[in-house]
Order: sequence, then structure tokens, then C-alpha cells
Amino acid sequence: MCAALAAVLSVAAETCGARAQSSNAPFGPANPFYAPSTLPFHAPPFDKIKDSDYQPAFDAGMAQQLAEVEKIADNPAPPTFENTLIALQKSGRLLDRVNAAFNCVTGANTDPELEKVQEYEAPRLQAEQDEIDLNARLFARIKAIYNQRTSLHLDPESLRLIEYQYQQFVRAGANLSDADKTRLKKINEEDSSLSNAFQTKLLAAAKAGAYLATDASALAGLGQVQISAAADAAKARQQQGWLIPLQNTTQQPDLTFLTNRATRQALFEASWNRAEHGDANDTRATIARLAQLREQKAALLGYPNYAAWTLTDQMAKTPEAAVHFVDALVPAATAKAESEAQEIQSVIDAQHGGFTLAPWDWNFYAEQVRKAKYDLDESQVKPYFELDNVLQNGVFYAAHQLYGLTFKERHDIPVYQPDVRVFEVFDADGKPLALFYCDYFQRDNKNGGAWMDVLVNQSKLLGTLPVVYNVANFDKPVPGQPALISFEDVTTMFHEFGHALHGIFADTEYPSLSGTQVARDFVEFPSQFNEHWASFPEVFAHFAHHYQTGEPMPAELAAKIQRAEKFNQGYRLTELLAAAELDLQWHTLPATAPLQDPDAFEKDVLTKTHLWLAAVPPRYRSSYFLHIWYNGYAAGYYAYLWTEMLDDDAFQWFEDHGGLTRANGDRFRRMILSRGNTEDLAKMYVAWLGAEPSIEPMLKFRGLKDANDTKR
Ligand SMILES: [Zn+2]
Repeated sequence: MCAALAAVLSVAAETCGARAQSSNAPFGPANPFYAPSTLPFHAPPFDKIKDSDYQPAFDAGMAQQLAEVEKIADNPAPPTFENTLIALQKSGRLLDRVNAAFNCVTGANTDPELEKVQEYEAPRLQAEQDEIDLNARLFARIKAIYNQRTSLHLDPESLRLIEYQYQQFVRAGANLSDADKTRLKKINEEDSSLSNAFQTKLLAAAKAGAYLATDASALAGLGQVQISAAADAAKARQQQGWLIPLQNTTQQPDLTFLTNRATRQALFEASWNRAEHGDANDTRATIARLAQLREQKAALLGYPNYAAWTLTDQMAKTPEAAVHFVDALVPAATAKAESEAQEIQSVIDAQHGGFTLAPWDWNFYAEQVRKAKYDLDESQVKPYFELDNVLQNGVFYAAHQLYGLTFKERHDIPVYQPDVRVFEVFDADGKPLALFYCDYFQRDNKNGGAWMDVLVNQSKLLGTLPVVYNVANFDKPVPGQPALISFEDVTTMFHEFGHALHGIFADTEYPSLSGTQVARDFVEFPSQFNEHWASFPEVFAHFAHHYQTGEPMPAELAAKIQRAEKFNQGYRLTELLAAAELDLQWHTLPATAPLQDPDAFEKDVLTKTHLWLAAVPPRYRSSYFLHIWYNGYAAGYYAYLWTEMLDDDAFQWFEDHGGLTRANGDRFRRMILSRGNTEDLAKMYVAWLGAEPSIEPMLKFRGLKDANDTKR
């Protein structure tokens, strides 16, 4: 739900060729990035920034940061915390300014000129970062400080900074001999090129795997809009008939509607086998080699397997902890999926189907179950969710009740697009705390999905307060009409604002440890936690009012929304668990493991984890699991579920302690939301909760367990 924007630049870096262009534009005081912004909260002067300002500012910013780092590395004075780590924290300010604004506009409001800059700068930024990470003189200083850290009498946050910096360098291979550094570089290069090859093959495989119907009757059940889209898709490829392109997950959206069982089976199999046709687009040899390379990399860096290396800076810390967590969810998830399967089978039997439920039937019949049991009419619901009302009386209201925050819209802060709104956030004592931008409406020059990011990072060392933003893709109403959104959109607003709160409450000394810069298996915790308030009765009743009459939503309709949340959760969780197991097992192979046969490996893993189920396939098959082979989620897919455990567990704590109260909110803010990455995240969580996290609340909120037998 929340895209990591940092990935935008790195993806471009991987795909971009050598389309170099040099910038002759001068960089001087006329460039709006030249000096720190004089606007409130150092907000970017979007009214003065032109597209052509970015590239010279990037070039100057990188040169400046490299010079600063060189100066630290070459300092003749012995290394101290002050002259090395603090100096590093203070470096790169210009680059930070331009990067933050650039990430924002390229994600939410891009254009061809910005895309060109992005393509040009991405590999240069990566190379600049590599140069810093591999600076041996700099690492020697950090290592010297790390080795004497316990005798330096520093505060806990400063100690954490030393450990964090040291770990980042070591993880990148700074401790290796020169010969091993060369080997590591070779492995990284092959990994990167195979990973790109995987993505290229998969794109081609998915394109070639699209389902083609030559007879209209095959598409029975699809709506007119879907059929026209399929006809257009075929035409675009100069093919006769109707084409259904493949989505990246195993299940395909149209399987919910197609009444022709043979079509469903054909479409499903097109998806399942997309990258396993033995042709040029077959990815199996690529992933087998990728897994092997990662085994070798881990061994070189001194770890038993790749997951062990990846998880060192995560909350879970070890593959054993992640595997144990995933394994523990399997019985409840598969039991629920089994009971859902029985329900679906009884629908099939009642209709005299005469067959056993198969994966391609699941969504089609589940939809009938959903209509019978949970049907929600969006057009009835939406009039109760007018966007501004949801924002002010829902999202902001919950933050006021929990944390005492108040919000005032500011029209004097420049924005990058007229739809963007800016709010100043005030603390309970009236002190200015942050700026919050929101940009909710869909535009065709905006990335899909929703996300949060930062324009200015909070840091006491740098004297900065946070400037954060939320972006989404809700339908924009025609002028004069209210923006009525779905409950899913409402939940998205609470989710992204949960990330925003993690940024807004940041109260740390060092910018590197501030706000949302935490491990992947923690970063979605505050956002998913904040989602819970969307349906919390006191909050829901405060914002769910009809936009014309002001009437609260009828209780029956509100109850339907709640019930619908529990639909199909056995299937949904099981397919995620299967994907998470595949990821973890691929990345816990030891360096001595032979090259794997992906199909045999996959079947073996799913069988031994009790997830080889006739009707519930993994959400991604190994051969098209883009997250782990290309998108940087290797040994990290479990994190989606891990953070869900945390947010449900945390919300259960709130429920057990009086719910929506200032006391609860302030405690959560003080012990979690304000802390960024200043402490070991597992310790931070346990200190707040007073116990280890439990999966029981997650099973309850997913509807996999009776609410009555759930104790935290
Ligand atoms: Zn998120």
C-alpha cells in the first residue's frame, strides 16, 4: 500500500543505459536549492523551483557531499565521535534538499524533463553512494570509534548511531580483504544483471502469456467495459479476438466474473505457467542461479545464508524468528481456508456443478458467497465518506483524541500542484510541530498507489522540524461536486497518515535515525496501526456522516462494512504465507546447496510447510516472484505479515487499556512514534508493550479466531 519512493531512483538506475548528457547550467545563488529554504519549516520553495534547477543542484550536491566526506576521511586528527560521525550526519545537506523535492515531484507530478533528469542522475547517485560506502579511510575511522564505543560515555542514541553506521559499512563488505571485496563486487554485478534479466524475461513472459479468446462466448460474465478493454488489448497487438493481459499475482481479477469454467482454467494456467514454457522467457534457470549467488554472497560476508545476512538489521533479526512466525500462522490460516473451501464447494454442489473446487474457481464462487453474506453497495456507502470530512473529522480527529494534535490549513506555503493542501500541525501545548502536505487526487503524471514521504527530515542536530506528505490516487470529482470515497480509500488515508505521524512525532538528534527510517519489518507498523482507528466506533461515528443531510451512517450499513472486512481471509492469508515461505526457504539455502530445480524446490517447500493446497496456490510462484528476485524484498516478504502482527497486537493493547485516550496515545508516541531508529526495534516494542508481540490479535482481527478466546 505504501510504495517506498527510494526505489524509484534505484529502479531507474538499473534500467538506464548510457544516455549521458552533461549539464552546463551554472549552479549559484539563483538556484532555489543553493541555500536552505527561508520558508516556514524550511519547506521547499516549489513556487521558485523549475525543472531545470534539479540537475545542476544534484551535480553540485554530490560534489559537495563527496568533498565533505573526503575531508572527514582525511582529517589528520585522531577519529572521534564528533569529527567523524557527527560530521557525517551534517554532510550532504544540499543533496538532501534537492533529493527530497525531486523524489516528491517525480513520484507525484512528473513530466518528460524530470524523467530525463531522473534517468541521468540515478546511476550517478548510486555511484556516489558506493564511493562513500567503500571509502576505506572513512571506514577505518568508524571502526576505530566502534571498537572503543563503550568507553566513550555516550548517550544511548549516539551509541546506536555508531552501531548503525558501523553495521551499514560491514553489511556492504567494508571488513573484507581486498581480494574478497573484488569477489563480492563480481557477485553483486552478476546478481544485479541476472535480476534485471529476470525482470525483462518476466515482463515479456507476462505479455506473451496474456489469454486470447477468439470466441465471444468464452468471455461470458465479463461486463461491457471489460470486454471492450479486452477487444482493445487484442487490437493493440494486431490480434483477432479478445485479450486478457496478465496481472502480476497468481489470481487474475477477471476470474471473479468469468462464468465459462474452461476459460477460467485457461486464464489461470496462463498465469501460473507464464514463465515456465521452456522458451527465452523462462525464468527458472535465472532464479536458480540467483539463489546460488546469494548463498555465495552470504558465505563471503560470514553468514550461514542470505536471509541471515539480510535480517541482521531487521526487527526479526534471524531467519529462524521469521520462519517461526510464518509457521505459527499456518494452522489457523489453512483451517480457515479449508472451511471457506467447504462453503464454496457447497455452492458449487447446490448449483449441480459436478466438479471439485479448483484454484480457478475460487474467486468466482467466493464472489457469490460474498454477495450473499457481506454485500456492500459502494454507492450507498460513499455519500458518508466525503474526503475533506474524513480528513478533518476522522483522520485529524483521531490524532487529536490520541495525541492532542491540532491542524490549521496554510495557504501561504507553495505547493508543486494546485490540488496539494498544506496543514500546519500543532502539538497539544500549541507549539508548531510539523507541516503536513496531502495530495489525494489521481493524475496521469502520478505513480499509482499511495505513499508517504518526507520533504524535511526532523533532527535536533540540524535544527529541523519535519515536513511530511501523503499522496494517493482517489478519483477527482468534477468541479463543484464533493469527493466521495470508498471505505478502502478511507482506510488508505488513515494508513498513510500513520506513516505521517511517525514522521511528525520524530524527536531524535541524528537525521539518519529519525522518523520512518526504520527496518522494513517495522516501517508499516505505525501506518497499519493507524488504520484501526478508521473503524473504531468513536472515530467512525465522528466522520461517517452523509455529505448532504449530515445524518450518521445507519448502524446496519456500518455493521456490513465491518463484516465485509472478514471476508475470504483464510484464502488471503494462506496465499501470503505460501509466498513468504517460498521467499524464506529460497534465501536460507546454505552455500553448499546445489543448483535447485525451482519446481521441485517449490513443491518440496510448500509440502513440508503444509501449504501445498489443491485450491489455494501461493500469491506468487517462484518463477514470477518479482518482489524477491528484482524488487529488493529478498528474505523480506514476511515483513508485510510481521508488521500486521505488530499493529494488531498494539491495537489490542489499546483496546485493553481504554481505547482512544490521550494517556494511551501519549505513551505510544513517547515510546514508539517519536523514537525512529534510535533503539533496537524489538527492545523498543517490548518495552512499550511489556511483553513479546503475539499473533493472537492478528488471528482475531482477520476473523480466523473467535474474538472471545483471544487474549493478548
Ligand atoms: Zn504503508
